[in-house]
Amino acid sequence: MTETVKVYGDLGHYDVIVVGGGTSGCAAAVSAADRGMKTLIIEEAAYLGGTATGGLISMFMGFSDRESWETQSGFVGELLGRLKAENATQGMNTIYLCGKKELAVPVVPYEAEPLKRILHQMVRSHRVEVMLHTSMIQVIMDGGKRITRLLVHNVNGIQTIEADVIVDASFHGSVAFEAGCGYEAGDPDGVLQPGSLMYRMADVDQTAYAQVSQEEKEAIAARGIREGSLYVNNLLARPLPDGTMYSNMSRIQVDPFDIRKWTEAEMKAREQVRDISNFFVQNVPGFQDAVLCETGAFTGLRDSRRILGKYVLTGADVLTGKEFSDAVAESSYPIDIHDTRGTSSTIIKPEKGYFQVPFRSLVTEEVENLILAGRCISADYEAHACIRVMITCMRTGEAAGIGAAESVKRQVPVSQVNGVAVSRQIYNR
Ligand SMILES: Cc1cc2nc3c(=O)[nH]c(=O)nc-3n(C[C@H](O)[C@H](O)[C@H](O)COP(=O)(O)OP(=O)(O)OC[C@H]3O[C@@H](n4cnc5c(N)ncnc54)[C@H](O)[C@@H]3O)c2cc1C
Repeated sequence: MTETVKVYGDLGHYDVIVVGGGTSGCAAAVSAADRGMKTLIIEEAAYLGGTATGGLISMFMGFSDRESWETQSGFVGELLGRLKAENATQGMNTIYLCGKKELAVPVVPYEAEPLKRILHQMVRSHRVEVMLHTSMIQVIMDGGKRITRLLVHNVNGIQTIEADVIVDASFHGSVAFEAGCGYEAGDPDGVLQPGSLMYRMADVDQTAYAQVSQEEKEAIAARGIREGSLYVNNLLARPLPDGTMYSNMSRIQVDPFDIRKWTEAEMKAREQVRDISNFFVQNVPGFQDAVLCETGAFTGLRDSRRILGKYVLTGADVLTGKEFSDAVAESSYPIDIHDTRGTSSTIIKPEKGYFQVPFRSLVTEEVENLILAGRCISADYEAHACIRVMITCMRTGEAAGIGAAESVKRQVPVSQVNGVAVSRQIYNR
């Protein structure tokens, strides 16, 4: 069978194209543009922020215990400052995972809605071009290790576009996959962590809810699970600056590599949220007058492809706090694996209280002008279970943007960019 694809035109040439305008992609684009690169973000949704906005996540995690609000710099520092200036966050505080004091993590709760606009403003102010409603659908290779063009699709049909370096911030590692890079997904049996459809409820009596003890929360959750209305063994509802409460209570197995199953899961997740929010109204103190006011645009996925790069960060590296001369991110977030079949999570803190991510986990020797950012970087199942949170994604994004700019300026493959120098640019500013 002869297959022909109709190509409707060419969208030009950029120094750096970032595929995916989530938090990691925005960070990559801003840091590349700040280094003089003509930079474009290609994003298939109508807004920036990806899972942080469309997925309604609402709480930045992934800070290191060794940092504070005051020490934030670079992309993260500017973003947090812009959110604070618009009252879309009240700053940094501590939460206790699973309600356990020993599982304290620093977090910054934020409102997802204004974050969409703030990210637009922010990337524009750094001279990043944005192309929304446009999907990267395929890559064209030069016959060797170089991506020469991307094929993208939008309402004008399929078009080509070129860049010296491409940043894959697509969450799924879709550019790397199309370019033939090796990858892994899920646990050793290939089972992915469950996803969750996030939602917000308004008109909650937050004072009454704040008085519910951890023991009561677990007892109510156990009852909800027995009745078939709840899916996690705790009540995870947290306040936002606008007075609403957001919840991470749905739990569903999603297989993004089987589009029929993925579609089914999206529909089932919405049924879950209806049942969970009804259960809260009927059973949880403070929620008797509450209304479900928003759900995420999509079910948030915790897992997808992990591209195999020059260095695969391991769970052992995380637990022992292995230090790297080319470290580009540091975090104290624990390994956090949500049960694939149960209602609980396995959470293990790094022994030294922090771990690092090396630049080598963002590059692959398989493609010379491709660099990874965010959730799809090179990590094993356990390490991925802590690098996936947003502050770490933004920091790997920022490093990917620096690496892309270095590759263009020095005319070297991204795998030969000096990661130690990238690390210095991040930590010596
Ligand atoms: C339920 C849930 C709860 C979570 N809770 C927290 C939390 O409390 N705190 C925390 O810090 N982290 C949390 N996380 C993790 C975190 O939100 C994500 O891992 C992180 O936001 C991923 O960022 P990213 O930039 O790598 O990907 P994304 O934010 O998903 O961005 C990828 C972007 O790429 C676009 N895209 C994909 N493919 C293409 C293509 N082919 N062409 C064009 N565009 C494309 C997408 O539309 C999207 O905008 C949670 C995740 C989930 C699912």
